[in-house]
Amino acid sequence: MKITKIQPSHNFNAIQNIKKKLPKNNTNSSAKNSFSLEALAFLGKSNIKKPNYELNLSHDELIMRTSKDYLITKRYLDLYSEEYQNLDEGDKKALFHLVRAGNALNNIYMQLDNPNNLPFGEFLDNEIKKNNTDAQLTKFLFDAQKGVCSIDNNANHIELAKGVHELQGKGFYPEDLTKEEFQNILIQMLENGENEEVSKILNQRSVVERNGKNLKAIDYVEKFKDEFNFIADELEAAAKTSTNEDFNEYLTLQARALREADPVLDGYADKKWATLQNTPLEFTISRENYDDEMTGVVFENEKLKDLISKNNIIVTPKDSLGGRVGIVNQKGTQDILKIKKYLPLMAENMPLKERYEQTFSTEQDPKQTMVDVDIVSLSGMASAYRAGFFVAQNLPNSDKYSIQHLDGGRRNVYHRQIRTSTSPEALIKQQEKLDSLLNPKLHKFYNPEAHHWFVVGHENAHSLGPKDGKEALGKYKSIIEENKADMVSIAMLDVLVKAGLYTQQQKNEILVTFALDNILKAKPTLSQAHRVRSVMQCNYFQKEGAIKISKDGILDVDLDKMIPTAKKMLKEVIDVQLSRDFNKAQDFVLNNFKWGDELEKAAQNLSKTFRELNGCAQSPLANYLLGLNEI
Ligand SMILES: [Zn+2]
Repeated sequence: MKITKIQPSHNFNAIQNIKKKLPKNNTNSSAKNSFSLEALAFLGKSNIKKPNYELNLSHDELIMRTSKDYLITKRYLDLYSEEYQNLDEGDKKALFHLVRAGNALNNIYMQLDNPNNLPFGEFLDNEIKKNNTDAQLTKFLFDAQKGVCSIDNNANHIELAKGVHELQGKGFYPEDLTKEEFQNILIQMLENGENEEVSKILNQRSVVERNGKNLKAIDYVEKFKDEFNFIADELEAAAKTSTNEDFNEYLTLQARALREADPVLDGYADKKWATLQNTPLEFTISRENYDDEMTGVVFENEKLKDLISKNNIIVTPKDSLGGRVGIVNQKGTQDILKIKKYLPLMAENMPLKERYEQTFSTEQDPKQTMVDVDIVSLSGMASAYRAGFFVAQNLPNSDKYSIQHLDGGRRNVYHRQIRTSTSPEALIKQQEKLDSLLNPKLHKFYNPEAHHWFVVGHENAHSLGPKDGKEALGKYKSIIEENKADMVSIAMLDVLVKAGLYTQQQKNEILVTFALDNILKAKPTLSQAHRVRSVMQCNYFQKEGAIKISKDGILDVDLDKMIPTAKKMLKEVIDVQLSRDFNKAQDFVLNNFKWGDELEKAAQNLSKTFRELNGCAQSPLANYLLGLNEI
C-alpha cells in the first residue's frame, strides 16, 4: 500500500532547460535524449499498428502546464551526492545494474496502463524529429505522468491525444470490453465449467485477451518475457558485486521469479525482501492493484458473484508494476525504526481484534522492517505523476503469496526526496497555506515533520487489521483500506504518548497537521482512493465535532475530540472489512464522501497558494548511470 503526497517542495527549473532546448534548429536527437529515462528505449518497441494521433492540449495549455508555477519538480540523488560517493565500489557497480533493471519496468507499466501509451510515445518521437514544439511539450508531460491519460491535482482528466481515454480495464483487458460483456462472458465460461481459466483471468498477474467468444489470461511472465529476462539478467549481475549477502539472495530469488510463471517464486522473493533491514542498497519491484477498475465489477452482478463463490475462485485486481532504486539512509532509518517495538501494543489496541487473526503478536518480534531511502530512480507505477508522488510504501500487500501462505513479513520504504521541502519558496507557501486555511491559534501545531510521523503510523497500519476478504469490497476496497490506515495512525496516538514514543506536543502537531492535510484542492473522482478517504474523513470528523470548517473555509480543530473520533471511525471501517459485503462498503463510502460548500471554499483557499497541476521528477544519477547526457 502506498501513500501519496501532493504538497510541492522544490521547484527546479527543469522546464526552463527544456524550453531552451526547444528546436531552434535541427538538434532534435540530443534534445530528445535529455527528457527522461524513456528516451533510452532499449527494449522492444510496440508492434501495435500505429493510429494517427492528434495532440489534444493547445499550445497555451501545454506552456502553462509545463511552467514553473504549475509544475511540481522533485530531484533525486545526483552523481556528486555523498550518499553515492560513499558507497563501496561493489555497490556502485550493482547500482548501475539495478538502475537498468528499474528502467525496464517503465515500458511494462505503460503497456499495462493503456494500449495507446507505447504507440503514442513513438508518434511523439516522430513529431519531435519534425521539430514539432507542441509534441515536445506533450512528451514532457507524457514522460512525467508515464502515459497518455492521467488525472491532475485538481482531478481534471488529462488526455494528451485527442479521443484517447482512460479505460476501466486499463491495459489489462481488451480495449473494447465493457463491464456488462465481461460479466456475461465469465458467467458463460463458468456455466461451461471453465473455472480454471476464469481463475487465471481474475488473478492479479495476468493480462486478459479475447479468445473467440471467450477470454483468456496470459501470465505477466509470458506476456513480458523479454523485458522480465532482461531485468532478471541485470539483477543477477548486481548480485555478483553488491556487498550485502542478504540483498544478493533477494536479488537472485527475484530474478528467478521473473523467469518462471509461478506465484510461489514471487512468494519466496517477497518473503526475503521483507526481511531486509541493514542493506546499503534498496531495490523493489512494486506490485499494487489500485489501477484496475474492471476485475472488481464481478461483485456487482449477483449471478456471477454466486458462481464465483460456489467455485471458490479468488478475485484480485491486476497488479500495476513499478520499480525503486535507492541508497538506504541510516539516520532516517533509525528514526523510523523507533515505532517498531510498539507494533504489538498497537495490535492489542485494534478494535474488534477478537474477530480476526492478529498479524503482530506480543510474543514474537514483529515481522516488519522499515527503511528510509535516498532515491536514485523510481519507475513505472512508482514514478507516474498522477495527482501526486508516492511518499512511502508498505509491501507486500495482503493478496500476495508470501503473506497468504508463507507467513512472510512486510517492509516499509520511505522516500526522502519526495517528502523533504526546505526551500525558502516552500516555506513561504507553507505560511500562506496556514494563513488562508487554519485558525491562527493552531498555527503553532502545524509541522511538516509531523506529516512524516503520521505516514509512519499509516504505513505500519497497513499491517494491522483483517488480512483476508477485502477483495469482496470491489472498487471500494482501496478507499476503505486507506481510511483504515489513517484512522489507526490517529487512533493510537494516546497509547503511543503513554508508551513514550511521542510527546503531548508531538501528538497535537500530528492531529493538526493531519486535519489540515485532509483538505484538498478539488473534489476527487471515486477512483482516487487516497483522496476520497480524505474527503470522507473531513465529513466524518465534522459530523463528530472534531473539526469545523467555517463558511470562509477556515479549519478549526477540537484536539480533545480527534482521537475518540478516529477510534469510532476505525471501528466502523474494520467492521466493513470484516463484513466482506460490497453494499455495506458502498454505503459507508458514499455516506461520508460528500463535498459541501465549506470544503469547496477551503479548496479555493488552498488553490490560491498551490497552483500546481502536474509534476515531474529528475533522476540525475540514474541518467548518468544509464548513459544519458543530462545529469
Ligand atoms: Zn496507504
